[in-house]
Amino acid sequence: MMDKGEQGQEKIYGKVKRKYVQKTIKGRIEALFLDNIGKVITREQIIEVATDPKTHKQPENWHQRLSELRTDSGYTILSWRNRGWLRVEEYLMPSAEKRLTAGKRVRPDNETWNAILNRAGNTCEWTEGNEICGLKEGEIDPIGGGKVKLTPDHKNPHSINPDSDPTDTNQWQALCGRHQIMKKNYWDTNTGKMNVYAIIQSSTQTEKEITFKFLLDYFGYVQDDSGKIFKLENDDKR
Ligand SMILES: [Zn+2]
Repeated sequence: MMDKGEQGQEKIYGKVKRKYVQKTIKGRIEALFLDNIGKVITREQIIEVATDPKTHKQPENWHQRLSELRTDSGYTILSWRNRGWLRVEEYLMPSAEKRLTAGKRVRPDNETWNAILNRAGNTCEWTEGNEICGLKEGEIDPIGGGKVKLTPDHKNPHSINPDSDPTDTNQWQALCGRHQIMKKNYWDTNTGKMNVYAIIQSSTQTEKEITFKFLLDYFGYVQDDSGKIFKLENDDKR
């Protein structure tokens, strides 16, 4: 049987097309992905190019270099965690596009940050509906656990407003760690709504199954024991 990829299309595997002689492990892995945009790259292929071309030493830390390509360089590299049809230890770079990365971000200057904390009363300013988070610096977060540490967040993402002003208190808000993560990962800054799709993407297999069953039920489908899915006709509904 053919292995299925995105939207049921054939899953295409990438190739190690040439000798990668970049000086760093990260550089060689990056080159491999850029040579294989939209194709599946396996753990073996990554290790092959990560291996030092001169000393033939096989690196143990290629996982970390892969993670740096995501976080520091800003590439999107999908794995089985993001796409159900990718197997464990299979990866895919959908495009060569890089997100603006954390390293390039500016911060409010000290004076402005103090003014923000003053305005916030040393509490998290995250607002959802009419509710403000309000967790205070140093107290224990009852949901996330751990001590609250407030850090500055630029209200508009840099992709929308690249000229952020480090002295304008109105452009910034104080956020607790949990809400920093929530905003970064799950908040769609264009629509001002939760990015439900991203939440489901990052959830566990079990949570995905629960969501899947909920959606089947919601849209009037049933799944039999063999996994086949049927649309319920009106007659079938009891
Ligand atoms: Zn908060």
